Amino acid sequence: MADFRPGTPDQDALLEALIEAGHLVPSGVPGVYGRGHDYEDVRHRFDAYVTRVAAEAGERPEVLRFPPVLPRQQIEDLGYLENFPHLAGSVFAFEGKELDARAMAETAGAHGDWSGHLHQTDLCLTPAVCYPVYPAIARRGTLPAGGVTIDPGGSYAFRHEPSGDPARLQMFHMRELVRIAEPEVVQSWRDQWRDRALQLLRHLGLDADFDVANDPFFGRSGRMMAASQREQSLKFEILVQIAGDEPTAIASFNYHQDHFTAIYGIDTADGGRAHTACLGFGHERIVLALLKTHGLDVASWPADVRSHLWV
Ligand code: AMP
Ligand code: ZN
Repeated sequence: MADFRPGTPDQDALLEALIEAGHLVPSGVPGVYGRGHDYEDVRHRFDAYVTRVAAEAGERPEVLRFPPVLPRQQIEDLGYLENFPHLAGSVFAFEGKELDARAMAETAGAHGDWSGHLHQTDLCLTPAVCYPVYPAIARRGTLPAGGVTIDPGGSYAFRHEPSGDPARLQMFHMRELVRIAEPEVVQSWRDQWRDRALQLLRHLGLDADFDVANDPFFGRSGRMMAASQREQSLKFEILVQIAGDEPTAIASFNYHQDHFTAIYGIDTADGGRAHTACLGFGHERIVLALLKTHGLDVASWPADVRSHLWV
């Protein structure tokens, strides 16, 4: 596994403690874990907390849910393989005859490489929970006045980044909200949510701050994309020190300008090209930050922290 990122000693220690406490169940593959009752309970409660905060802020997002696979054509249309080829996961399946199946099973039985027997399907694994939203809204035609706000929920995302860091997973949940409207509307929505999210995470006792950030674009041209993204403040992250040498991003706030709306042809009610923004809370990272900050015994967390989740 060429791109495996080993954990630091404190990441290793945290991972071991989480497994020992029953919060994580190792699968044998780095970055893929089962989750125990308390961990999952906090994850769902956090998601509900975000929904409540959105409602209290007067937001009435439309709920839409999608499975964690994406049509391959969408990954192709979005240029995902130009920007993030190292993170993509695509689904391959067997379409051969009996003889071929037998050969495949034999190789697999010896844990050999059986990929030569597979064919590419029409599916990729979803790398970001907001991706299915854009073509879905485009199908409706011109946006209504004021645009739309969509809640695609806290769903699974896949990224091929095997690591020993318990905060860096290959399959994880991302709670997103998406705004599609006029450029100024979208930008100020993104900034308001960044500030609101910082507050809601601090209410949970997390020592969080935000900073300008960039996506992990691939290769040399990717470095230029990342620099330009930072220069224009298109991405902010909320960071917390969990384990390791660097703080971990627990939530992101992205302004995509017309990236998605140009590809799918989404226009505002007055005929201009719409812009989009999304925010994503990293469920597992937030639960991890809470466990690290308040201890592995959820029942003994501070009462005021619990009061925001156990309502
Ligand atoms: P991004 O689309 O990269 O901004 O991701 C949205 C949020 O998902 C981030 O702010 C993280 O909290 C979370 N996230 C991203 N990558 C991972 C990962 N490999 N493991 C766990 N959480 C992640
Ligand atoms: Zn998104």
